Amino acid sequence: MSRIADAAKIADRKPDDVTLVAISKKQPDDRIEAMLATGQRVFGENRVQEAKARWAERRLTYPDLELRLVGPLQTNKADDAVALFDVIETLDREKLARHLARSMEKLGRRPRLYVQVNTGEEEQKAGIKPSQTADFVARCCDQYGLEIEGLMCIPPVGEPASLHFALLRNLAEQAGVSKLSMGMSADFELAVRLGATSVRVGSALFGERPAPA
Ligand SMILES: *Cc1c(COP(=O)(O)O)cnc(C)c1O
Repeated sequence: MSRIADAAKIADRKPDDVTLVAISKKQPDDRIEAMLATGQRVFGENRVQEAKARWAERRLTYPDLELRLVGPLQTNKADDAVALFDVIETLDREKLARHLARSMEKLGRRPRLYVQVNTGEEEQKAGIKPSQTADFVARCCDQYGLEIEGLMCIPPVGEPASLHFALLRNLAEQAGVSKLSMGMSADFELAVRLGATSVRVGSALFGERPAPA
């Protein structure tokens, strides 16, 4: 999208340094096909089973697809997630780190990993606490042999996202990881200006997700 390139230019960044992750959850097939026809190859989903249904076949047609999991992952779906996704952005607890390490060993496949940070410290939201992020990243590596590529956050509704984007960037620096998954339809340009290396855009790209019938 040219809006990403424009935001990158304003921030004196190269447009190519920002990956557009097209969030395809709940979108109808015709929109997925139209998006593929534009050349878009990086897609994000928030549910393992739904992603499998939408992408397992298409993978064969489009071997250069990159699939990212951006929704919560239950440990009993770790095998499925490791088998399907190229990137898992929602590593948010030690138990999941243990299961992912085991699944990777078993399946001989190593998706790239992001740690999800609960930057707003919201009760109902998944993610590692900001104060524990660097320790958790180190533990993933030391204890489970997992290499963490970056951090991901979903800012609280009704708060300025910029504070959360800036916090995530600081935490990444402290933790020694280089990638930042932040920014959605409402705020991806802001995220790009604040250092996002990938933005997760759904409705602004595909149109509103249809209400379930
Ligand atoms: C659905 C979703 C998005 C995309 O949301 P839009 O507002 O449609 O851009 C991004 N990130 C996550 C984690 C999501 O679940």
